[in-house]
Amino acid sequence: MEIERHEYDVVVIGAGGAGLRAAIEARQQGKRTAIVCKSLFGKAHTVMAEGGAAAAMGNVNPDDNWMVHFRDTMRGGKFLNNWRMAELHAKEAPDRVWELEAWGALFDRTKDGKISQRNFGGHEYPRLAHVGDRTGLELIRTLQQRVVALQQEDFETHGDHEAYIKVFAECTVTRLLKDGDRISGGFGYWRESGNFVVFDAPAVVLATGGIGKSYVVTSNSWEYTGDGHALALLAGANLINMEFIQFHPTGMVWPPSVRGILVTESVRGDGGVLRNSDGERFMFKYIPEVFKDKYATTEEEGDRWYTDQANNRRPPELLPRDEVARAINAEVKAGRGSPQGGVFLDVSTRLPAEEIKRRLPSMHHQFKELADVDITAEPMQVGPTCHYIMGGVEVDADTGAAAVPGLFAAGEVSGGMHGSNRLGGNSLSDLLVFGRRAGAGAAAYIDALPTRPKVVQELVEEAHAEALAPLGRSGENPYEVHHELQRTMNDLVGIIRKAEEVSEALEVVEKLKERVRLVGAAGSRIYNPGWHLAIDLRNMVLVSECVARAALLREESRGGHTRDDFPGMNPVWRRKLLVCSTEDGSSVSVEEKVQPSMADHLIKLFDRDELTKYLTDEEMTEFDGIAK
Ligand code: FAD
Repeated sequence: MEIERHEYDVVVIGAGGAGLRAAIEARQQGKRTAIVCKSLFGKAHTVMAEGGAAAAMGNVNPDDNWMVHFRDTMRGGKFLNNWRMAELHAKEAPDRVWELEAWGALFDRTKDGKISQRNFGGHEYPRLAHVGDRTGLELIRTLQQRVVALQQEDFETHGDHEAYIKVFAECTVTRLLKDGDRISGGFGYWRESGNFVVFDAPAVVLATGGIGKSYVVTSNSWEYTGDGHALALLAGANLINMEFIQFHPTGMVWPPSVRGILVTESVRGDGGVLRNSDGERFMFKYIPEVFKDKYATTEEEGDRWYTDQANNRRPPELLPRDEVARAINAEVKAGRGSPQGGVFLDVSTRLPAEEIKRRLPSMHHQFKELADVDITAEPMQVGPTCHYIMGGVEVDADTGAAAVPGLFAAGEVSGGMHGSNRLGGNSLSDLLVFGRRAGAGAAAYIDALPTRPKVVQELVEEAHAEALAPLGRSGENPYEVHHELQRTMNDLVGIIRKAEEVSEALEVVEKLKERVRLVGAAGSRIYNPGWHLAIDLRNMVLVSECVARAALLREESRGGHTRDDFPGMNPVWRRKLLVCSTEDGSSVSVEEKVQPSMADHLIKLFDRDELTKYLTDEEMTEFDGIAK
């Protein structure tokens, strides 16, 4: 068995914002670092991010600061967030954005030359640093440029550009390798040749993004098959918060070939409004009790807010995403939807055409090219789309370390930071803050290692046999199994969930697991997408089982988890995390775990009245003791 082998200190799996920032940090701390990515280098979800990166720099409204950002993030996540992560994120995001600027990022500016910041749902002040509606592209461009700058430095010092940081693009990792309890590397294959590769490394940082391809209607692209979530589980790490999935309220609904593609929240942040088929601006009917005092109750007040935020409350189109997605769902169900099954999002009557083209160039182009709609002249039709998973690898907030020694995770593949619902813009800043921390965590772990773990040949052989198994087997077509999984998750574990439906989904998933073990891919190992999908299916089914099991257990509605049979938030459930693990990948078990109480200096940032909406009586008694 001839397998290519590479030895590194740190292997970062994923080249989106989290992976690149982690790799830069590990290299800056003197570690030999590999960046491995399934897609082309530069093609990650981070590139698609439109709206911006949330950071309380206070450039547009000087009242903004980390404490306001922390409060908004906790409210958005309905207080289920890992508060330490939310604190680090709010405090460090501005430095990470300024650092990007120092590395060459060209953000849009305010009139007085500062980095401009835009409004977004759930953020009290304009907070998203942006580059038009192409922020993710600039973020990735800048991080890639930084990688190249480090490689140029390495050439000067070592005579080899790739001495300390090397990119392995179009290379998919299918198994993590361990030596006893500790990580010792990863096993994967090259997409083009189908040849196998082993990475020998004591530390692995997972930065593989999300799981959207388990759903039919999604804003995510082909590589979001939950690989990192599954790799972590199979290596013995835990996943938390897997029941919380963000359905972005505004995906394209027409034509069918583009259903799910994202319509950025910036459209609403910049003044766009949602209307039903009666022409009603319906969001005013859907302001939930916990947000009543923070949102405008009339159109006039909502409109005034765009120019005078000190004296008016924000319009309800800018409620957190879970609220807006549920409202759109309800309008369509009540028969007040648009002709193609969504609702109308109108910016054409709100801003001059030239302003729309300047602020939202990608949206203008996207609708013109894909739907033949001119958004400067007519409304868009939009509906919810599976967008982001709040759940992921349970990590230490400060270092990104998972439960398995040597394993780290950052970005969308990690869990905790966003609680039950992520605020828009908080992902790009999360990638930078926790990517850096995971890179540093991995470097510190290596420095403290007494001996280097070894790659165990038997495990390499098992991974090799597992990857080869579907090839040439006369089993079921992997595309059929994938389609059934997507439909099942979409229809039975979607925006609104019921116990019977989720149980039914679990029965289907159980059968799909068996079918996945028998799928066959025709053809050879050379660039064979059917074979790649057959391998990915193991991950999608495993992760879908986590989502469905946790969704069935959580008997309340909170953020990205809405139970038709348990419509309200329950403070007792707020304290509980559902932790998924597996023995051997054949099934998932879920255990409840109580979250630690919020640190005193953080809980004191909230008013007592607000806390009573989220906390248990016991926690309120604790709070009264602290507040005295
Ligand atoms: P990604 O950027 O997706 O990178 C994942 C990487 O992992 C890729 O390189 C992939 O090839 C690699 N990978 C996956 N599996 C494997 C494997 N098995 N082996 C090797 N490599 C693997 N958030 C915001 O904050 N603001 C926004 O404005 C915003 N807009 C968005 C718009 C769209 C259309 C979408 C889809 C998301 C948006 N988000 C936004 C969310 C945000 O972009 C993502 O959550 C974030 O970019 C995820 O970054 P990441 O580094 O965790 O993963």
